[in-house]
Amino acid sequence: MRILLAGGAGYIGSHTALALLKAGHDVVIVDNYCNSSPEAVRRVEELAGRSVEVFEADVRNPSAVLKSMTDKPVDGVIHFAGLKAVGESVRMPLAYYRNNIDTTLTLLECMGQAGIKNIVFSSSATVYGEEAPVPYLESMPRGRCSNPYGWTKSMMEQILEDAALADHELSVVLLRYFNPVGAHESGRIGEDPLGTPNNLMPYISQVAVGRRDLLTVFGGDYPTPDGTCRRDYIHVMDLAEGHVKAVEYGAGRTGVDVFNLGAGVPYSVLQMIRAFEAASGVSVKYVIGDRRAGDLPEFWADAKKASRVLGWQTSRTLEDMCRDAWNWQKNNPMGYPKS
Ligand code: NAD
Ligand code: UDP
Repeated sequence: MRILLAGGAGYIGSHTALALLKAGHDVVIVDNYCNSSPEAVRRVEELAGRSVEVFEADVRNPSAVLKSMTDKPVDGVIHFAGLKAVGESVRMPLAYYRNNIDTTLTLLECMGQAGIKNIVFSSSATVYGEEAPVPYLESMPRGRCSNPYGWTKSMMEQILEDAALADHELSVVLLRYFNPVGAHESGRIGEDPLGTPNNLMPYISQVAVGRRDLLTVFGGDYPTPDGTCRRDYIHVMDLAEGHVKAVEYGAGRTGVDVFNLGAGVPYSVLQMIRAFEAASGVSVKYVIGDRRAGDLPEFWADAKKASRVLGWQTSRTLEDMCRDAWNWQKNNPMGYPKS
C-alpha cells in the first residue's frame, strides 16, 4: 500500500515510516517541520534503503494536501500532525485548537475529494479523562480532560466518528497511545524535543548526557508503591509496528475501531530512573519536587484488544526502551543537526 503520513517527520511518524517501509509499503510524508527536522526523513531513507516522497507543507493547506494525495494514488492516511505539549496547550489553547482540529478537518475533506477511505489517528490515553478506573479499556467512555491538548484529542476522535457515521465507506482506526519512549535500535532516529523536554525519558537522557543538571521527579507522595507516578511506557518501535497493523487492518473494513497501544504494565518514575541507569551505566541525578498540575497518580492500558484483533503486542522490554533511548542520546547529544 502507499501510505500518507501527516506529520510523518516527527518522533512517532519517523519510526512508523521506517516500520512501513520495512513491511514493504510506500510512504509519502506531509510535514511543515514545525517540530521536526528533514534530517529524520533522510535517516529513515538511509535505514530502509528506500526513498520517501516528502511534501513540505502545512497539513491545514488543502491544495498541498490534495496534491500529496493525488499525485500518485494513496491507500491510507496516518494522522500524526499536531501540537502535543500539555503545558503549552494551557498557555496557548487557541493555537492548539486551531492546529489540531484544522489538520484533522483538512485531511478528512481532502480524503473525501481524493476518494481515500482509510484513516488511522494518533490519539492518546488522555481521552479517558481524570476519573477513569485503571487499567483503561477501549469500551470506557471518553472523560473530562485536564488540559486543551487532551480536549483536542477527544474532539478529534468525535469528528472522526461523525465522519464515519456520514460516510459508510470510511474506516477510522483510533489508536490511543500510552507513553512512547526509546528510539530505533540503530540510534540514528529518535526523540528530539525542542527546548526543555516536557516528557520524562528525554529529560532523563539529557541529564545522563550532561545537557541538564538534574531531573525533578514530580511528586513523591502519590498513593503508589514508591510514592511516584506510574505510567505504561511503550517502545516507539513497538508503537510503530502497531501502526502498520492498524493501517493494514483499516484497509479491509469500514466504521470506527479503537485500540489502546500500551504494554499493559505500569512503571514508576523511580523505576524508570533505575532502569535507565542500569542500561546506560550512567547515574542520573534527581531530586523529588512538587507534584505537576494535572498529573494522575497512575494509569496503564488493558492492551488485550489490540492483541486479539490486530495480532499486535509489544515485544520490547523496559531494558530495551532505556538502552535504545540512551543509544540515540549519546550518539546525538544535541539531537538532529540544526541547519
Ligand atoms: P512530534 O511533534 O514529534 O510529531 C508531530 C509532527 O507533526 C511534527 O513533525 C510536526 O512538524 C508536524 N506538524 C504539526 N502540525 C503540523 C501542521 N499543521 N502541518 C504539518 N505538519 C505539522 O510528535 P510525536 O511525539 O511524534 O506525536 C505524534 C502524534 O502522536 C501527535 O498527534 C501527538 O499528539 C500524538 N501522541 C504523542 C504522544 C507522545 O508521548 N509522543 C502520546 C500520545 C499521542
Ligand atoms: N515526570 C517527572 N519529571 C519530569 C517529567 C515527567 O517526574 O521532568 C513524570 C510525570 O510526573 C509523570 C511521568 O514522569 O508521572 C511521565 O510524564 P510524561 O510527561 O513523560 O508523560 P505523561 O504521562 O504526563 O503524558
